[in-house]
Amino acid sequence: MPKIPQCDRCLLYSHNPYLVCAVHPDGVDGDKCLDFREDLNAEPVELWQPEGASYYNGELILQPRQRWTAEQQLELLDWHPMFTGKCPQCGAEYERDYTARVHWDCPDCGWMDDSV
Ligand SMILES: [Zn+2]
Repeated sequence: MPKIPQCDRCLLYSHNPYLVCAVHPDGVDGDKCLDFREDLNAEPVELWQPEGASYYNGELILQPRQRWTAEQQLELLDWHPMFTGKCPQCGAEYERDYTARVHWDCPDCGWMDDSV
């Protein structure tokens, strides 16, 4: 990703691993950007993360919310489609790339996920 040093403290920087910014999605040539807007509140580089997920070894991993106890998280492993790949109500299998999902509502039986 052809990000330049300025990007980290630029208001327009998207903080998204797949996009440099909204103005120059693919980055700019050289090491200066005409559209640079200094962000005085800029924080250290951080990967953009959807809620309930985090980066682990460069891969986006969905996680149960932190407020859950370790015990509750273990229970989740047994039934939640995030881990089993199946609808807990009708057993329908989610698509193969199910680990990338954020919403788990079942298209077959209408089961709604309100757990995460
Ligand atoms: Zn279902």
